[in-house]
Amino acid sequence: MINKERAINKFLELVQIDSVSYHERGVADYLINYFSELGYEVLEDKLSNEKVPLSNAGNVIVKIPGKGALANQETLILEAHMDTVEPGNGIKPSITEDGKYVVSDGTTILGADDKAGIAQILEVEAVLRENDLSHPPLEFLFTICEEVGILGAFAVDTELLAGKVAFVLDGKGGPGTAIIGGPDYYDVSGKIIGKAAHAGIAPDSGISSIQVMAEAISNMNLLKIDENTTTNIGKVICDYPTNVVPEITTFAMEIRSLDHESGKKQLNHVIETLQKAADKFDAKLEYDVDQSLYAYHHEDDNPVIKRFKEMCKRHNLNYQGLVMRGGTDVSGLTFNGIDAIVLAAGGANGHELQERLIIDEFLENTQQVIWLVTE
Ligand SMILES: [Zn+2]
Repeated sequence: MINKERAINKFLELVQIDSVSYHERGVADYLINYFSELGYEVLEDKLSNEKVPLSNAGNVIVKIPGKGALANQETLILEAHMDTVEPGNGIKPSITEDGKYVVSDGTTILGADDKAGIAQILEVEAVLRENDLSHPPLEFLFTICEEVGILGAFAVDTELLAGKVAFVLDGKGGPGTAIIGGPDYYDVSGKIIGKAAHAGIAPDSGISSIQVMAEAISNMNLLKIDENTTTNIGKVICDYPTNVVPEITTFAMEIRSLDHESGKKQLNHVIETLQKAADKFDAKLEYDVDQSLYAYHHEDDNPVIKRFKEMCKRHNLNYQGLVMRGGTDVSGLTFNGIDAIVLAAGGANGHELQERLIIDEFLENTQQVIWLVTE
């Protein structure tokens, strides 16, 4: 049923439309035109654009009415992100001689992350339509700015979506593979404010912010905290002439945890340790905590996992539920009350000049999505 040539050609077409994060307009317009011409209701999510004003597009949502015996089942969302990392402009894709892969010319990424997911969705829709297959109502959600902090998925206007279950087509590997868990992620940044003084003449009247920071760091639990939780300081900046007691030291760090409680506990520990050190030396602490990811771990009885596992069983696919410490759009969707998992799209070596599409996997993964929405 899958039209191999059409699916690959759509993929080739999509990667040639530039859409580095914040510049998704070209792909958004392509999708809006494509699905409008097919007669579907197509929306551009204005709220996402208001919340991410730096992007020149909003999330794109397409509504596909249910059909046949499954028409009254609950709505399913298929999701892929429109943006790519850099260098992602002027991509020149080609199929390798053995016909197995699509690659770039080596000067840019390929953009299979996540144009492979978008191309899958286009092929799924075409197959459903051509073969008159029965399926539940579907919503296609194409997001902006995934690569720069999952901004589009967090900002999505849930009023525009009826679905509560989503398959995000943005993973590695073949059919059967799913990412079913992800972390809480906290960015902690701030500064220690001490007091400047001449280091030779009046050191006692100064408060050394770098000394405070050193005290805090030496009392802080760092790196692997437990099975689920990690903490890393990436930046400590204090840059003064040596004859000045340094007034300000800035810092930035991250905490990740697959477990809400453990993550929060570690966040408290970090802040308390900084505060104690500041108090000890009579310095001031200013800080910001920004939570950009929210932990999720779907249990086996979660409807989205159940549906996927049952499909794997029917088709003898080897189900593999993975937990990932990085971010995906699932984090944003979960935050918005939509149960989602990531399924493999078909790309490999994402974010690298050697990125490629593995054609067989791409087609097999497309087939599994067709099974998911038609059975
Ligand atoms: Zn991606």
